[in-house]
Formats: sequence, C-alpha cells, structure tokens
Amino acid sequence: MKHRKIKTLILGGSGAYHFPAERFGREKEKVHINTPFGQAAPIRILEIDGREVGFLSRHGETGYNVTAPFVNYRANIYAAKELGVERILAWSGPGAIDPNRSPGDLVLPDDLIDLTRNRASTFYTNQGIGFIRMSPVFCPGIGEAFRKGLSSLGRDFHEGGTYVCTEGPRLETPAEIRFMKGIGGDLVGMTLAPEAFLARELEICYAPLCYVTNYAEGVRPLAYQKGVLFEGTLPEEERHKVEETLARFPEIVVRTLSHLARLERDCPCKDAMLRYRRRGEIGEDWHSWIG
Ligand SMILES: [Zn+2]
Repeated sequence: MKHRKIKTLILGGSGAYHFPAERFGREKEKVHINTPFGQAAPIRILEIDGREVGFLSRHGETGYNVTAPFVNYRANIYAAKELGVERILAWSGPGAIDPNRSPGDLVLPDDLIDLTRNRASTFYTNQGIGFIRMSPVFCPGIGEAFRKGLSSLGRDFHEGGTYVCTEGPRLETPAEIRFMKGIGGDLVGMTLAPEAFLARELEICYAPLCYVTNYAEGVRPLAYQKGVLFEGTLPEEERHKVEETLARFPEIVVRTLSHLARLERDCPCKDAMLRYRRRGEIGEDWHSWIG
C-alpha cells in the first residue's frame, strides 16, 4: 500500500483527543495502517507551516478509549516507520514523585525506568539482534528543539528527570511510590515504555515532553475524593493549571517543529542498528529486520 511520506510524527498522550486537528494544522489525509503486529491507531497527516507532519493519539481519537497497557505500541511505531518517520515528538501526562514538580508543570525527562510487566517490548523476538545502547535514552536533537520551542514562547520547564513507567491502568500504591523515589524516579506514568525503546530499535528519534497531571500517591497529604479523576491526587485548585498547560500544547508543538526542521539529524538514534548492518546480519530494508 502506498502512503504519502512524512518525516515527523506527533504522538499525543492524554488530552490529545480534545484537540481538533486544526489546532495543529490543516488535515490532508487520515491513514489507517495494518502491521504484522495488528492495526495501528489512525494517523492524521497535517500540514503545519508548509510541512506535512503526522499526528497519532495514543489513547483514542475521540476520548480516553484505550488505557496505557492496551495501546498497541509495536503497531504504532511500525506504522510510523512505514510512513518514513524519522522523528517522534511524544507527550505524556505523568504524576509527580518529586514534590518540587507540581500539576501543570512542564518537564523534559532525560531518563526512563521500565517497570511494565505485560507489554511486548521488542520487535526482535527470538532473533539475536537488538542488543543496543540506551544512553542517551531520548533523542538529544528533539530535546534541543523542545528547549528552544519552550524558551521562545517564554514557558518555564524542568530540565531532566527520570520517568518511571508502570503497567497500569491502576494508579500506584504508596509503597510503590516510595520504592520509585528510592530508585531515582521523579515522574510516574504509563506510556513511554516500551514506546521509546521500540522507536530506537527502528532507528527513529524519539523524545517526550511531559506535563504533570497530579501528585503521585503519598507525595502530599491529600484526602480521597470520590468519583473524580485521580480521586483527589490532583487538588481542585491546581486543576486549572493542568488545563492551561494542556491547552498550550499545540502552540508548543508547532513552535518546536519549526526549530526541529532547522536541526541536523546528527544524533546516535539513526544508527542504532548499524553494528548489525555492518556485520551483514540485517539488510538495508528495515522490514526484513523483523522476522
Ligand atoms: Zn535522534
């Protein structure tokens, strides 16, 4: 099947389904790609500042219909590669383990701990390939573009931090959060793993921008609130800060894209599988890498 080619994909997290496509750019096409790993989420091809960019909403097109453990990460990343994507700008709304980060704050994490349990985490099952370095964890080039985009808009953000990825869909227990804090976690969410690792396996640059949605369990003494999102771990008076930050995402992403377009792609991500290519274990066509 022939699709138009795009170089960049915006991978939207929670809240993505609230944005009409025109908040980012003009929609030209919506593509549905079937992969060896199943159906990928639909990808909208948008024209943003004269460039065609893809937009995929992880959790659903019209609402929060797919929780994190049930996102088909392999299908989504495979579909991105199929479209020719070289760079993925991801967003995610984690909770704060570090009490200095509060709801609505923007964070550019620089490390990731994978505590997921039931997710297919590699394209290279039973193949003897994929033994690849994971530092830097996220693409330094996209990180640079995010920094420039945020700074040019006058937005404050936290530089760096470790994102702990849990299985979900439930939130974490107090003891789990104490454990995560003990091993160096600053944020806890459910989506960046294995997504970031799968992108690296297919030599796609990937970096996330996070907005803090709530306090992780036990970080602040907060009463249980029945029947509301996060059941009290997002204090009512801080809810508007989260909404304000989320509402600015299209502007932040569009600005970041304009900086990214001017950056050379000279990061290690694009050569993650080079050792295997040099040894002749895999060919130039990435489709053949996947058994
Ligand atoms: Zn890169």
